[in-house]
Amino acid sequence: MRRPFVVLLAALAMPAVAPAQGDSATAPEPIAQLVARLDLERYKATIKGLTNFGDRRQGTDRNRAAVDWIEAQLRSYGCSNVARLKYEYQPPSPPSLAGRGGQGVRPASGGGRYRGIRAQTGVNTDSTKQPDTRLRALDAQASTPGAREEVYCTKIGTTHPGEMYIVGGHMDGIGWGEAANDDGSGTALVMELARVFSSADVRTDRSIRFIFWNNEETGLNGSRAYVEQRRTLQGTKDEPKWLGMIQHDMMLFDHGMPRADGTLAAEQRPEADVNIEFQSSAKFAAEAAQLAWTFERANEKYATDYPASVGSHMTNTDSAPFQDYVPAISLRENERGTQIGAGWDPNWHQPTDLYATYSDKDFRLGLNAAQTTLAAIAGLVGATIH
Ligand SMILES: [Zn+2]
Repeated sequence: MRRPFVVLLAALAMPAVAPAQGDSATAPEPIAQLVARLDLERYKATIKGLTNFGDRRQGTDRNRAAVDWIEAQLRSYGCSNVARLKYEYQPPSPPSLAGRGGQGVRPASGGGRYRGIRAQTGVNTDSTKQPDTRLRALDAQASTPGAREEVYCTKIGTTHPGEMYIVGGHMDGIGWGEAANDDGSGTALVMELARVFSSADVRTDRSIRFIFWNNEETGLNGSRAYVEQRRTLQGTKDEPKWLGMIQHDMMLFDHGMPRADGTLAAEQRPEADVNIEFQSSAKFAAEAAQLAWTFERANEKYATDYPASVGSHMTNTDSAPFQDYVPAISLRENERGTQIGAGWDPNWHQPTDLYATYSDKDFRLGLNAAQTTLAAIAGLVGATIH
C-alpha cells in the first residue's frame, strides 16, 4: 500500500495546490509549464521599459506616461479586462519631528528586532546627486497635488469568477534615480505574471487581479484608496470577493548585512533569498501565515536558484491596508523592517537605483520571486493549460 501514502505526502506538501482538472495522467504538469514561460531577459526588458520613465514620481507627467505604458503592455499580453482606480491625493503638511525617540532603542518598523551592523538609510531629495544630466532632467518635474489613477487588469476565472487573488507592485518611485529596484522590479514581476496568465491557452478556476499601485511612496495612498472604495463592494458584480493580497516591492538586491565601515559586498550573496512576510499583529495573521508558507512551498518546488524565507513583520507596503480584511503577504529581497531598514540596500531611494546598477545575479533573485508567486497563485486559482 505504498501508493496512497505517497499521494497523501504529496498532498501535504502542497495542500493549497489543486491538481489540474481534466488533465490526463501523462500530461506535463501545468504549473511547471507556466513557470517555464518566465524568462530572465524578458523580466529585465520589462524593468528597463519602466526605467524609461525615470523615477515615475506620483503626480507628474512621467508617472502618468508610465501608467499608460503599463496599460498598453497589459493589453498587448491579452489581459484585456483593464480598468483604472481614480482617487485624489493631497500631500499632508510636513510631520512634526518633536517626540521622536532615539533610533537605537526603538524596535524596527513592523515589530522586528535589529541585529548586527546597521548603516544609514534615507531618501535622496537633492537633484544634483544624480550625475547623469539626462536622467536629472527626466526626473525634474515636481509632483502636483490632485487627481491620480492606478491601472489594473483581471484574469477572469472560469468556474469561480467572483473570487480573486490580488497581485500587486507599486509603479511610483522617488530618489532621483530610475526606481529600477524600488519598485520597477516588483512592477515588472507583476506585469510578467499578467503576461503568462493572460495567454490564450491558460484557464484558471478563480480570478486574479494584477494591480499597479500609485502613491506608495507617499504613504500607501493608492492601495488605501482601493481598499476604501472597493472593500464593501466585494461579492457584487463590481468587485470579486478578495481571497488574498500579495505585494512585490524591491526584488533584486540581497548582498547581505553592511560591513562595519558601512560598505556592502559588490555581488549578490550566494545565500540570497526571497523574503515572504506577513504581519503577526494583523486580524488575518494566521491565514496570512498559512498563505506565506504556501508560497514558501511553491518556491521549494519551482524556483530555480534562490530559496524563500518566511517572516512575521510585514510593514510599509501596499499589502498593509488589506491585512485586517484578507490574508495579506509581501515578497521582497530582504525583510523590510530589520534588514532594508538597517541599511542592507544602499540604493534604496537613492540616485543609484538604476537599471545599470544591477547584475544578472540581482535580476535573477527577482525572477525567482516571480517563479514563486506564479507557481503559488497558479495552484491557488487552479490554473490549467489547454
Ligand atoms: Zn517600494
